[in-house]
Amino acid sequence: MKTDLNIIAKTLRRKIIETSFRARIPHIGSCLSCIDLLVYLYWCELKINPLESENIHRDRFILSKGHGAPGLFQVLAAKEFFPLNLLEEFGKPGSVFHEHPPKPGYIAGIEAATGSLGHGLPMALGMALAERIQKLEYRTYAMLSDGECNEGSIWEAAMLASAQKLNKLTVIIDYNKWQATGRSQEVMAIEPLSDKWKSFGWDIQEIDGHDFSQIKDSFNKAKDESKPSAIIAHTIKGKGVSFMEDDNNWHYRIPNADELQRSLRELEDES
Ligand SMILES: [Mg+2]
Repeated sequence: MKTDLNIIAKTLRRKIIETSFRARIPHIGSCLSCIDLLVYLYWCELKINPLESENIHRDRFILSKGHGAPGLFQVLAAKEFFPLNLLEEFGKPGSVFHEHPPKPGYIAGIEAATGSLGHGLPMALGMALAERIQKLEYRTYAMLSDGECNEGSIWEAAMLASAQKLNKLTVIIDYNKWQATGRSQEVMAIEPLSDKWKSFGWDIQEIDGHDFSQIKDSFNKAKDESKPSAIIAHTIKGKGVSFMEDDNNWHYRIPNADELQRSLRELEDES
C-alpha cells in the first residue's frame, strides 16, 4: 500500500507543478505539503463513490485551506470525479478551475467554496451536526492550514464541536510551519498548538504528514474516539522538490521553464 500511495502522490506532485507552470496558478508549496494527506484520504479513508458524488450518506471532506485547491483538483480528477481533460482549462477565462474551490455544483466532489480562511471548519461542524440530527451515516473531515488557526471562527467551531461531542468530525491540520507572509509561529504564536486543541476538548494526535503508515494509524484511531479528533500533521511546505522544500517563496511563485524541468526530473523516479 505504502509504495502505491507514494507513486500516486509523486505523480500528482508532477501534475500540480505542470499545471502551475501552464496556468500561472500559485500555491505550489501549500499543495505539496498536503498532497500525501489528500491521497490517503481519497484512496483509503473517505467513503465516497465518484459515481454517486451527491449520495446523502457520503463522507464529507472540506478543504478549508482553499488555496490547496490545485492539489485537490488533481486528486478528484485522478479518482474520476470528472474527466481529466477538464483540467486543461485550468485558469482560463470561464473555467471553473481556479486558485480556490468554487461553491458546490460546479465541480463534482467539491463540498464547499473555501479560501476565505476560517470558514471550512464551521461548515464541517454544521455537516457533522446534520448527520446526527437527520440520522444519516457519514463522517466529516476538514483540512486546515496552520496559518488558518489564527482565525477566531476556527476556535468557535472547535468549542461547539466538543460541546456537542461530535466524534464523527475529524480535523487535519497541515502544519507546514508557514503561512503566506512568514513563519506561522512568528506571525501569530500558535504554539502550543496541540495543547490548544486539547484544551478545547478535542482528541489530539501528532504525526508525520508524509508518512502513510502514521496517517493510516491516526485516521483509524480517530474513529474510536468519543469526541472530535484533531490530527496535527507535521509537513514540509514544497515537499518533494529539493529547492522548494521549506522555502516560502513558493507560496506565490510560479516556476519558470528551467525550474519546471528540474522539478519534474526530481519527481521522475518512481521507486
Ligand atoms: Mg501553513
